[in-house]
Amino acid sequence: MAENKIPYKIYLDENEMPNAWYNVRADMKNKPAPLLNPGTHQPMTAEELGGVFCGELVAQELDNENAYIEIPQEIKDFYKMYRPSPLVRAYYLEKYLQTPAKIYYKFEGNNTSGSHKLNSAIAQAYYAKKQGLKGVTTETGAGQWGTALSMACSYFGLDCKVFMVKVSYEQKPFRREVMRVYGSSVTPSPSMETEIGQKINAEHPGTTGSLGCAISEAVEVAVKNPGYRYVLGSVLNQVILHQSVIGLETKAALDKYGVKPDIIIGCAGGGSNLGGLVSPFAGEMLRGEADYEIIAVEPASCPSFTRGVYAYDFCDTGMVCPLAKMYTLGSDFIPSANHAGGLRYHGMSPILSQLYDDGYIKAVSVEQTKVFEAAEQFARVEGILPAPESSHAIRVAIDQALKCKETGEEKTIVFGLTGTGYFDMVAYEQFHDGTMTDYIPTDEELKKFRDKLPKFD
Ligand SMILES: *Cc1c(COP(=O)(O)O)cnc(C)c1O
Repeated sequence: MAENKIPYKIYLDENEMPNAWYNVRADMKNKPAPLLNPGTHQPMTAEELGGVFCGELVAQELDNENAYIEIPQEIKDFYKMYRPSPLVRAYYLEKYLQTPAKIYYKFEGNNTSGSHKLNSAIAQAYYAKKQGLKGVTTETGAGQWGTALSMACSYFGLDCKVFMVKVSYEQKPFRREVMRVYGSSVTPSPSMETEIGQKINAEHPGTTGSLGCAISEAVEVAVKNPGYRYVLGSVLNQVILHQSVIGLETKAALDKYGVKPDIIIGCAGGGSNLGGLVSPFAGEMLRGEADYEIIAVEPASCPSFTRGVYAYDFCDTGMVCPLAKMYTLGSDFIPSANHAGGLRYHGMSPILSQLYDDGYIKAVSVEQTKVFEAAEQFARVEGILPAPESSHAIRVAIDQALKCKETGEEKTIVFGLTGTGYFDMVAYEQFHDGTMTDYIPTDEELKKFRDKLPKFD
């Protein structure tokens, strides 16, 4: 285990923000499995990863030893514009539910991108700039990551090429325009600009795209254009590291008030907000200092943790990215068309996957109409219009608080409110009009995708 177990308190600066990110891998006995080269099935070397990612980010990706990694001053200067983010006691929700539980939420929607993704976007843009790159490429689904990265690239004067899943590009024109405000180019994916896009378009005429497919296009453009690298907004170890700022601030604020949470809840798409929120708490568990109930919440229509398998899989449809060992539904899995609540990635962060496999975190899946019910209850009493993704965590926080009402337990619940839902009004509209349905994939359907997982001899 790592040597530098300096208490995080030393790492708070005068603005009550951490000076260093916390790397939970340092305290994990079972490290997350390494990324593998898709051709040789050997662990990816720093040199190989350097062809796709920025140098310092590769170092962070591979660093399983250092518990703290200092946050560069330039990044802290940017964080200062919207951090520390508020940790709010949900008094009105508690009152509405008539629960003896105490509910807190960490609100990450307090910036123009509307989500926690900016925490990693600014770090990734900073290291790209420092390396002297011209620009970066990426994919975006619903658009929060693309927006966050556009803001970050604009701040550092980097070019930003975003491949946006075609269905979102068409259904969410306002997200696209926000990205263009910050100077990014936005291409609907699959496009005809890349070889993989042409191939996917030929094989699946009229396809509306998927995240896995947009990732393949973005990687191809980064690899083919000198001075460009690819960046990813979730799943990777480096992203969980950057997002630890959420957990460190939460822990600092709770400690200041002498509050120890019993239950910590976060929604889980690729795992970045949950990983960041729980990192310092999981660190305490791993070191045997404290115990918490950590709950990952995922959509019943995209249940990577609760119904996936822990195996090496491709991160993208085009199979150009390294293989990651993770809880996965299979890289071809695409949630049903009526799924509106985000969190649609087929895999889960290797760090969280290992923590889940080792029993440090639990997972539950929830149906989307129940998620929107919770979203609306929350908006009506607490004021904030939550993102559908975030509302998965709200759903389970409410369920846990109602359980406390039955048992009379005064538990303290903390959940991550990852963002706002202003660009998700089509989904809210479906909910109001009663056209939203709950589609849960059958075992046979899931098996079809699972059977296509890469095989090792
Ligand atoms: C992207 C996003 C998520 C899910 O991504 P994770 O990597 O699992 O955190 C959750 N909430 C919001 C608002 C998002 O934009």
